Amino acid sequence: MGLLRKPKSVEELLKIEQLRKKLEPFCEFKREALVTSKDVSYPIYSLGFGEKNPKSPVIAFIGGVHGLEVIGTQIIITYLESMYQLLQWDSTITDQLKKVRLLFYPCANPAGMAMHRRSNANGVDIMRNAPVDGEGIPSFFLPGGHRLGSGIPWYRGEHKKPMQLETKTLYNFIKREMWDAPFAMAIDLHSGFGVKDRIWFPYAYSKKPFPRTAEVLALKKLLMKTYPQNKNKYNIEPQSQHYRAHGDIWDYLFMEHHELHNDKVFIPLCLELGSWLWIKKNPRQMFHSHGIFNPIIPHRLMRTLRGHLLLLDFLIRATISYEKWAILSEKKRVKYGIEAKVQRS
Ligand SMILES: [Zn+2]
Repeated sequence: MGLLRKPKSVEELLKIEQLRKKLEPFCEFKREALVTSKDVSYPIYSLGFGEKNPKSPVIAFIGGVHGLEVIGTQIIITYLESMYQLLQWDSTITDQLKKVRLLFYPCANPAGMAMHRRSNANGVDIMRNAPVDGEGIPSFFLPGGHRLGSGIPWYRGEHKKPMQLETKTLYNFIKREMWDAPFAMAIDLHSGFGVKDRIWFPYAYSKKPFPRTAEVLALKKLLMKTYPQNKNKYNIEPQSQHYRAHGDIWDYLFMEHHELHNDKVFIPLCLELGSWLWIKKNPRQMFHSHGIFNPIIPHRLMRTLRGHLLLLDFLIRATISYEKWAILSEKKRVKYGIEAKVQRS
């Protein structure tokens, strides 16, 4: 089992390695697992900053679940690079880190990223691999997940087999790091759906209302009020509004958390970047190996990288101050419940 043998093929992993040297004095840098494929080993890393008390509010940023969607990992790396600079001079960041646990999991599927594929090296889609069966998904709708074989995208893995190493590692990480917190939020960065940037909340498996819809609507309101100029930047909606899927890791984690800790708040979100817009503006990038899921033209890449940093900052602030907006009275819950129904109808 060698170390990374073809480092040039995973530029993002190399960048994370470089960041390790810089950021290690400020954070806990862990290797969560080593994924091996054809004698090459790919590490899955996590970084934990700030308050070590597991009872502190916590937020996690996850990227690279789908190996082709490199942009999510790049956004996290960009954020970490800025954070390194801020840690040199900005005393407010040190104050902030006394109030929150800040977690980064920049590349959940490094073998998939190295091999330029959505799935992991075994051909399994990490976002279709958890033991959750979707409701009312027609068998011909392959993007919802299937068991036809690993040669077709969206493969769930074999029936009743344990989760893949990448899925299990992410599951263990979230459970270990987030479940004792009174408030926990995770945002998983993806790309490839539609022309708009969307923030999706559960469920993916069902059209059933998400039990934390009220908290998500409160967060949405907070975002719109704080940054009204970004009002139309993100559509915040349940994933099932667009399509349903089997095996979503966030559905699985949420359902387990809700059963065991429903006195605590856990909100898993996915940022789904609207990559079709990049293709619309530059159709030629369809022929680039990463072109369908990532901005290719340098100025568009820069715009995408900087465009979401404000959202990441906002979510960290919202996590620190969760008591101000996420602890809702019954009256508010009912009000948001009605609002959600109106939006759905
Ligand atoms: Zn994805």
